[in-house]
Amino acid sequence: MRALYPGSFDPLTLGHLDLIERSAALFDGVMVAVLQNPGKQPSFPLEQRLEQIRQATSHLQGVEVGSFDGLTVEYARICGARVILRGLRALTDFEFELQIAHTNRSLSPQVETLFLATAAHHSFLSSSVVKEVARFGGDVSHMVPAGVAQDLARLFNRSSFPQ
Ligand code: ADP
Repeated sequence: MRALYPGSFDPLTLGHLDLIERSAALFDGVMVAVLQNPGKQPSFPLEQRLEQIRQATSHLQGVEVGSFDGLTVEYARICGARVILRGLRALTDFEFELQIAHTNRSLSPQVETLFLATAAHHSFLSSSVVKEVARFGGDVSHMVPAGVAQDLARLFNRSSFPQ
């Protein structure tokens, strides 16, 4: 069975990567797909986010990387994915995620949304927290893959982060 893991990944964090690694062990194939959201101005261009994910997942079997706009259920159909994966960090994620899951199910009952609980030590991580820390020169090496840390340093015009 194939799964679709959609998100903004702006940028990919170790929390996202943990979810990808765990789902790769559960499914025959996992499509990690960057949503091109016209309503959001991303910090990293689409191509750079795709490259960050490709680099960080190159050690994993069965993981593909793609992008889409439009309806997630429609992209799931195109990919042949019967499952949409989402991560749950805390109760605050729940209400929003449940609303999307119900909406997607009403659009396409044959696609199931599956939630994976975030690893406890990554539950504080979000792309926006990472960017906030990086903006002010904090060390993000325990929050993001090495390539993403370099991209963040460039984005905020810092030669590197203190270790
Ligand atoms: P979106 O804008 O679609 O919420 P994100 O890139 O923020 O995109 O998140 C994509 C998915 O990854 C969501 O299901 C989110 O709950 C999950 N996620 C975000 N941060 C983490 C984390 N630290 N650990 C595990 N899953 C996470």
